[in-house]
Amino acid sequence: ERLVQADADGEDTAVEAALRPKDLDEFVGQEKVREQLDLVLKAARARGATADHVLLSGAPGLGKTTLSMIIAAEMGAPIRITSGPAIQHAGDLAAILSSLQEGEVLFLDEIHRMSRPAEEMLYMAMEDFRVDVIVGKGPGATAIPLELPPFTLVGATTRAGLLPPPLRDRFGFTGHMEFYAPTELERVIHRSARLLDVEIDVDGAAEIAGRSRGTPRIANRLLRRVRDYAQVKADGRIDRPVAAAALGVYEVDARGLDRLDRAVLGALLKLFGGGPVGLSTLAVAVGEERETVEEVAEPFLVREGLLARTPRGRVATPAAWAHLGLVPPQHGGK
Ligand code: ATP
Repeated sequence: ERLVQADADGEDTAVEAALRPKDLDEFVGQEKVREQLDLVLKAARARGATADHVLLSGAPGLGKTTLSMIIAAEMGAPIRITSGPAIQHAGDLAAILSSLQEGEVLFLDEIHRMSRPAEEMLYMAMEDFRVDVIVGKGPGATAIPLELPPFTLVGATTRAGLLPPPLRDRFGFTGHMEFYAPTELERVIHRSARLLDVEIDVDGAAEIAGRSRGTPRIANRLLRRVRDYAQVKADGRIDRPVAAAALGVYEVDARGLDRLDRAVLGALLKLFGGGPVGLSTLAVAVGEERETVEEVAEPFLVREGLLARTPRGRVATPAAWAHLGLVPPQHGGK
């Protein structure tokens, strides 16, 4: 388990409930999505109607689950949480849909990973609040139509482009969640520190924010590790030196790279002169699986502009040399 992974780990799941903003005003950042969603919800409330279906796209840990809970709270509605992979059969979905209360919010995480038959059932449920339950098998099978109470589907996906257009089109509103700016993460950290009863100053929060990869979940996790360090090695208070020293212990550097990220980058620079080098070769050089390098380390390195994927292989950017404090070799000089 990496400290800088954006997916939730066991500890997060327990703590996150306590750190979740409860309404739109408490929700930090994402100004556009917040403003748009505010209108959608206010208008629905004024009409006394159930809110339109909402699709939230964005990387893990940016607050999609939190926002779905806020949607339910703002509508004064209960919420049911499930995920695409948990719905293997259309029957699983029919069971959930038919037990919804009027106005309930159904949060479907990783909606792009639902099975095909379930997806098709969802089309009709979203549009007509109706499902056909198939009873029996083969030629004797019959479809029994079932009316559903109006509900609001909140779907979450890492990329809206992964969804089949017929599904995408049935959402009344799509919100794109962006990575958070450092100043926004500082606000998340100050807020969480208050809730966790931890003392932190402005510079301490800035130090943690800069290492959090634009992701509130990571910011909250780093805050907890820094708090541990502050308790054991300092007087419990978090300032910049304490935050930097703590995250040094956990090998999360000033830019949020961890040991694996730096190993990949270091091999690319030191062994292959900055590339281009093939993915397999790079993976062998760091003693990791291809998939680990490609799916775990590279996305963030690419996003940070430290590494580029080219047809000829992986290439380091000038920023990569600077970040590791190395000097690129001179090419073509005579
Ligand atoms: P995943 O898709 O991996 O489930 P997610 O996008 O649903 O992730 P959440 O579970 O909603 O992410 O958020 C992760 C953590 O980050 C929560 O503890 C939440 O409190 C915090 N968080 C997310 N967004 C915000 C925000 N805008 N303001 C304050 N805290 C936030």
